Amino acid sequence: MATTLSINPYNGKELKSYKNHTKKEVSEIIDKADKRFYSWRETSFSERKKLMLAAASELKKNKKEYAETIVLEMGKPISQAIAEIEKCAWGCEYYAENAEKHLQNEVIKTDADKSYVSYEPLGVVLAIMPWNYPYWQVFRFAAPALMAGNVAILKHASNVFGSAMNIEKIFKRAGFPENCFTTLLVGSDVIEDIIENEKVKAVTLTGSGPAGSSVASIAGKNIKKTVLELGGSNALVVLKDCDIGKTIETCVMARFQNTGQSCIAGKRLIIDESISEEFVEKMLVKIRELKCGDPMDEETFVGTLAREDLAKDLEKQVNASIKAGAKLAIGGKRQNAYFEPTVLTSVTEKMAVFNEETFGPVLSVTTFKTIEEAIELSNYSKFGLGASIFTKNIAEAEKLAFQFDEGAVFINELVKSDPRLPFGGIKQSGYGRELSEHGIREFVNRKTIFIN
Ligand code: NAP
Repeated sequence: MATTLSINPYNGKELKSYKNHTKKEVSEIIDKADKRFYSWRETSFSERKKLMLAAASELKKNKKEYAETIVLEMGKPISQAIAEIEKCAWGCEYYAENAEKHLQNEVIKTDADKSYVSYEPLGVVLAIMPWNYPYWQVFRFAAPALMAGNVAILKHASNVFGSAMNIEKIFKRAGFPENCFTTLLVGSDVIEDIIENEKVKAVTLTGSGPAGSSVASIAGKNIKKTVLELGGSNALVVLKDCDIGKTIETCVMARFQNTGQSCIAGKRLIIDESISEEFVEKMLVKIRELKCGDPMDEETFVGTLAREDLAKDLEKQVNASIKAGAKLAIGGKRQNAYFEPTVLTSVTEKMAVFNEETFGPVLSVTTFKTIEEAIELSNYSKFGLGASIFTKNIAEAEKLAFQFDEGAVFINELVKSDPRLPFGGIKQSGYGRELSEHGIREFVNRKTIFIN
């Protein structure tokens, strides 16, 4: 009988051992979800809205309890974990209020008496999710999917099965019918079987490139729709006319919140060389002020990484970059799963901290002389999730935005997700969009109706 062990990365202690679902249990769960789909899709938007608002209330009512699971399972500081739960409630409320509008029939004038597009649910959608925002990643998929009339099964990352079980509980407590949302406790080795199950109609994956590639290949072989939200290595492009104080605040937040473990974190600071020395010096002062340590402490801003092996991988990237010529301005040390906030300067595009994704509190600094060079450096990445530009010349920045190969460009702001705006990447960051009207339309059948 396979089991999955959950370990607290802060103290290395075992939290819980979960008994994995067997092949037979997985198949039964999918059967039940599929059966539920046929009654769920008949429910009205107002019924679904009532339940989704109840899920939002449940999240808000018990935010501390849910947030604590995050802290214990992956080391996120408690204040940020609570903010994550609140954001999930916002996502539920947004889709409760807007799903009907997003999915109303779209009349198109043709030679028919009447013709329109009807947005209809697909059925069972499999969500494969990562541990870094263990609730938000799930809710930003589940809220629109359920509001559209789909049902969801979740395969969560193996280190956050407690969060996964809690999410199932939240939908249950909110009053959703049984099997609308079900958690599968399984490893990634059984994903192929699940995708091949004819009752599973589509798959969404948020995670690394190799996982995305494998899942998309299996889904492609079975002609099933996928959405992939993969890695990122966002640039923070700082022009010489920026507001230095505000830009530093934003860059520190962009890189070090969630202990640097965010796909949309600003990982590469690309800065005009004429201001780089002053900027880095002042930024280091702010970084030294970040409170690191026990993630259960409300004052803590930088916790531990989610697993010790991830901290070791990060250490290798940092050491390889130093060996290749990068200069260590601050940090660089690891202790078990904890990694110090780190800044490397004199970084070139050939170094690991620049051309690979760094999933932890490590900022690389590269300078440029011309704006063309800055854009080239930003676009050098194989990822294309987002970039930030910092300047007082908004009109110029808006023009420049067009030249960035990214899913999003934020001017004078860190890249962040917002239920009202589409979220997703290009290049190796994946395809498809989550959130907003674009997200809810990913897992629907756009049915053409023609009446004569
Ligand atoms: P990961 O190792 O790819 O895991 C993500 C999920 O995929 C987990 O549920 C994992 O299950 C599963 N998985 C892993 N290998 C698989 C395979 N070969 N086939 C099927 N499923 C597989 O990623 P992670 O380490 O949890 O998360 C970090 C990555 O996610 C980073 O690259 C980050 O940038 C990316 N991410 C992207 C976004 C976005 O919105 N674009 C958001 C957050 C994170 P197990 O845990 O059981 O292996």
